[in-house]
Amino acid sequence: MHNAAFAALGLDWRYLAFEVNPKNLRAAIEGAKAMNFAGLNLTVPHKLLAVEMVDMLDESAKTWGAVNTIRFDKKGAIGFNTDADALTQSLREDLKLELRGAKVLLLGAGGAARTAALKLASEKVAELFVVNRTQSKAEKIAGETKKQFPSVIVSTGFPKAKVDLILNATSLGLKTDDSSPLDEKQFSLKEARAVYDMIYRPAETKLLVAAKKSGCKTANGLGMLLHQGAKAFEIWTGKPAPLDVMRRALEQNVYGH
Ligand code: NDP
Repeated sequence: MHNAAFAALGLDWRYLAFEVNPKNLRAAIEGAKAMNFAGLNLTVPHKLLAVEMVDMLDESAKTWGAVNTIRFDKKGAIGFNTDADALTQSLREDLKLELRGAKVLLLGAGGAARTAALKLASEKVAELFVVNRTQSKAEKIAGETKKQFPSVIVSTGFPKAKVDLILNATSLGLKTDDSSPLDEKQFSLKEARAVYDMIYRPAETKLLVAAKKSGCKTANGLGMLLHQGAKAFEIWTGKPAPLDVMRRALEQNVYGH
């Protein structure tokens, strides 16, 4: 999506992927700076590690405690987070969801779930239920969210009543033979108005197929991926991102059509 956007704007820039061992992350960031890269994106497991390795943190990275975008400029390496805003933008666009006052069941307690919990709380959802395979991690996220946003009711475990949104932030569903991340014996999809799966490949996870059958509004994580990319593009280039071009390129690359 970035290369398509550079081409559309006539920028002679390139977006390339590098696999970096976490123990070499600091050297990789320094190396990119030395070679006059405009910036970087980082993904698992680098987003938390990079917080300690940049010269400055933008407000977004300070607030969400993770860096997925770096810009190199005169001041050095500046760390940003574009994931959090991208998630809520996609929830609003793709599900037409009103977040303020909503009740949300969050599945997962990894990096993406943590950002989601804090961001949803900052948007003043009414209640947040965190469910994760490893209970201690769900408790840690719930505790952190409650501390930062005391007005939001945060608990671990399944809700006892209807929710406006189930948000899958686990990696269960990435593989086609994965089971659904939601145990329907514990919570029925009939009790949810909408289901968002952060996974975008496959386009329809088992969770989304079942959610559709139950009459829920559904969306996958492509919109989140698009918007975190578009925001990073704007941070690097200072120009408005050509969203339609980026969306088309993403769909073509991810789904092949
Ligand atoms: P992490 O590795 O930090 O977290 C993984 C989460 O999935 C944990 O909660 C983990 O539970 C759970 N999990 C993994 N395997 C299983 C299993 N077999 N059974 C039950 N739970 C399981 O990953 P991230 O938080 O970075 O990413 C999570 C998902 O979100 C990924 O699918 C990723 O692709 C997607 N994502 C999408 C983005 C987008 O732009 N659309 C952006 C970022 C992430 P436990 O704690 O017990 O290990």
